[in-house]
Amino acid sequence: MLDKVVIANRGEIALRILRACKELGIKTVAVYSEADRDQKHVFLSDESVCIGPAASTESYLNIPAVISAAEVTDAVAIHPGYGFLSENADFAERAEQSGFVFIGPKADTIRIMGDKVSAINAMKKAGIPCVPGSDGPLGDDAKTLMNMAKKIGYPVIIKAAGGGGGRGMRVVHSEANLLKSITLTKAEASSAFGNDMVYMEKFLEHPRHIEIQVLADEHGNVIYLGERDCSMQRRHQKVIEEAPAPGLDQATREKIGQCCVDACKTIGYRGAGTFEFLYEDGEFYFIEMNTRVQVEHPVTEMITSVDIVKEQLHIAAGEKLSYQQSDIKIHGHAIECRINAEDPDNFMPSPGTIEHYHAPGGPGVRVDTHVYQGYKVPPHYDSMIGKLIAHAETRELALARLNTALTEIVIDGIKTNIPLHQKLVKDTAFMNGGTDIHYLENKLGIK
Ligand code: ADP
Repeated sequence: MLDKVVIANRGEIALRILRACKELGIKTVAVYSEADRDQKHVFLSDESVCIGPAASTESYLNIPAVISAAEVTDAVAIHPGYGFLSENADFAERAEQSGFVFIGPKADTIRIMGDKVSAINAMKKAGIPCVPGSDGPLGDDAKTLMNMAKKIGYPVIIKAAGGGGGRGMRVVHSEANLLKSITLTKAEASSAFGNDMVYMEKFLEHPRHIEIQVLADEHGNVIYLGERDCSMQRRHQKVIEEAPAPGLDQATREKIGQCCVDACKTIGYRGAGTFEFLYEDGEFYFIEMNTRVQVEHPVTEMITSVDIVKEQLHIAAGEKLSYQQSDIKIHGHAIECRINAEDPDNFMPSPGTIEHYHAPGGPGVRVDTHVYQGYKVPPHYDSMIGKLIAHAETRELALARLNTALTEIVIDGIKTNIPLHQKLVKDTAFMNGGTDIHYLENKLGIK
């Protein structure tokens, strides 16, 4: 097993990684910014190194600072978590060149999957169904672009090849807005992602977001851990996730799962990964692959009993997967609410000190959070402060458990989106299951 791991992240995922390392007897190094000295995992880690000021560009995104923290502490591996450097191919490459194990896929794989245009091409070659679209980056010729959109059929969506986090996308409903939207998306993509390459896809009007979790080791073994439904979204960002996807039958699950396993073998994938699809009228359409652990991984862990983070560590140590496909059995249903430090009415971030914190409990209730009473949520980072997960024998019971847990949880001193979640778990359409990706925004009155 690995001897010592640098946790190159913050917040709940840093704590999640620390816990997995501790269970496996791996020593841990926390790296933190000046605004994050009071992080729970910093207190609990074996060693900690301050890597720079609050601004993430100078700390969590600072490649030399993270690598030198690994060097000075004699660590052997770096776990990037999600966000920050987790899908940065240059970082993966630099880490490995400096003699550290990067806990994730090979840099080349990250590079291909990080560019959505090359990811779609690789997936098409590997036999994965994709959304009808431009088959590559958009050029400048107006006539060609207009013909292309007409052929695909309006509405279309213009997407940045280097986009992420729900940004860099624009829906176009008619030809009159096409060229202007392409120009705008290009400009945004260039400033936000340093890459103005954009492509076009058919905008699906009532899909669900369903994704497949995979694990692959270095020895060619690949398994899938079922699917997650992450259709409850606001501004293309997930709000509630669940597993399994309501109403998806076993034959469909096996077919798409096997398809993802085959694609991993084709591209020589290593580590944990997620194939994201839009699912409409019984068909799957690939949108992107995430080459890292995801925020919503706990719902899969709850229904499969596989510890995804520990598997990442085993894989990084060069071991074979602990499971074969036939070992993976789905039991029950799990639902996760992302708890954000934000105003539930206008979604404005709400950093500050948590005056009172009380965690919910009981059978099947899991809380992944780094916060505690007196903890100060800094204003510099993503507003997610934790995740509340409920697992039960059926979806109905999981919802009931979640509802109870949401009435027990207390986070005072800052505003959170808990009141929104309390409403959503009692929403009739959500309770029935199978709502599409536009449902939440329509409900909230956002167009
Ligand atoms: P990101 O990398 O920013 O998360 P994705 O490509 O994964 O971007 O898309 C995020 C979300 O945007 C999807 O879950 C879906 O809600 C919406 N979306 C993306 N592509 C389409 C499409 N072709 N049609 C309809 N919605 C889409």
